[in-house]
Amino acid sequence: MAYKRRPHPEFSWSHSRNLTFTDCQRKYYYQYYQSHNGWEWKAPYLQKLTYRLKKLTNIPMLVGALIHTEIAADITQQQNGFAPRSSADLITATLTAFEAALDDAQQHKKEWEKRPSKHTMLHSVYYADGPSSEAIALAKDRIESSLFGYLNSQTLADLQSDPKPTVKHIDTLDTFKVNNSTIYGVPDLHYRRSDGTHIIVDWKTGGAAETVQAQLLTYALYVQSQDPTSINSPFVGRVEYISQATHQDVVLSQADIDAQSTVIQASIAEMKEKLHDPQRNIAKAMKHFPLKADTSACHTCPFYQLDQTEIGK
Ligand code: SF4
Repeated sequence: MAYKRRPHPEFSWSHSRNLTFTDCQRKYYYQYYQSHNGWEWKAPYLQKLTYRLKKLTNIPMLVGALIHTEIAADITQQQNGFAPRSSADLITATLTAFEAALDDAQQHKKEWEKRPSKHTMLHSVYYADGPSSEAIALAKDRIESSLFGYLNSQTLADLQSDPKPTVKHIDTLDTFKVNNSTIYGVPDLHYRRSDGTHIIVDWKTGGAAETVQAQLLTYALYVQSQDPTSINSPFVGRVEYISQATHQDVVLSQADIDAQSTVIQASIAEMKEKLHDPQRNIAKAMKHFPLKADTSACHTCPFYQLDQTEIGK
């Protein structure tokens, strides 16, 4: 599709946007407004810098993204009739991709500055001397334990033992509408068991997150928007803590799913209070997006460079 330039970003809501909005208003401003069009060659310096910083990642995020990609590819292959891959194959492929990303971050800083979406850049490389050997070793352990956890997960066992499961969505970017607003919210995996139960899976390579229930409910809303008849079926949200080889199933009641729609609308209303022009999604000036109250962890933020002076005052 041809690139269509937009002078302002289009408004959309997502679980991660809401987390950013509640975590740090300034970060929200950088992430969703100041970085817009910063990918353009002729964009002003500050816009380009903000976009570059938005593209920074860190070791846990990189590991999580690589594992999600590998799992999605593996499940897709199985759905296409291929035999499940061995643990050695999955782990080798992910470790190879991890090493390549590390190498890219360490060797191609200049290239990343010119084309930040085409290269990997780690926070620890950009702001310091690169990840420690301990951090790299831990990341490799995490890759191995997570992929073993995936292969022994409740979800794979379920898909293999169920006589006729229907896999509906595998980690594909998509949107739906809540009260005319665009919502991003696609589950890592969604399938319907032959008993009619919809299972919505979230693969977690880290520890438990307090907000995971809201995330699963948003995914359930997505599923119901795609298939309104599913509203009459039971819904279960499953968090697979694959690095710990454990999982948690939560029944998602229709009342809770409906309530999540109200939560999303309230969150959107709060976000829109920060707009100078809601029609065109133009944010108010940066002074309306304060720094985080507790700045003790700001040195780990991708946008630290932009706020360092203000934080130091
Ligand atoms: S450096 Fe701190 S205040 Fe600035 S955007 Fe990041 S978290 Fe927010």
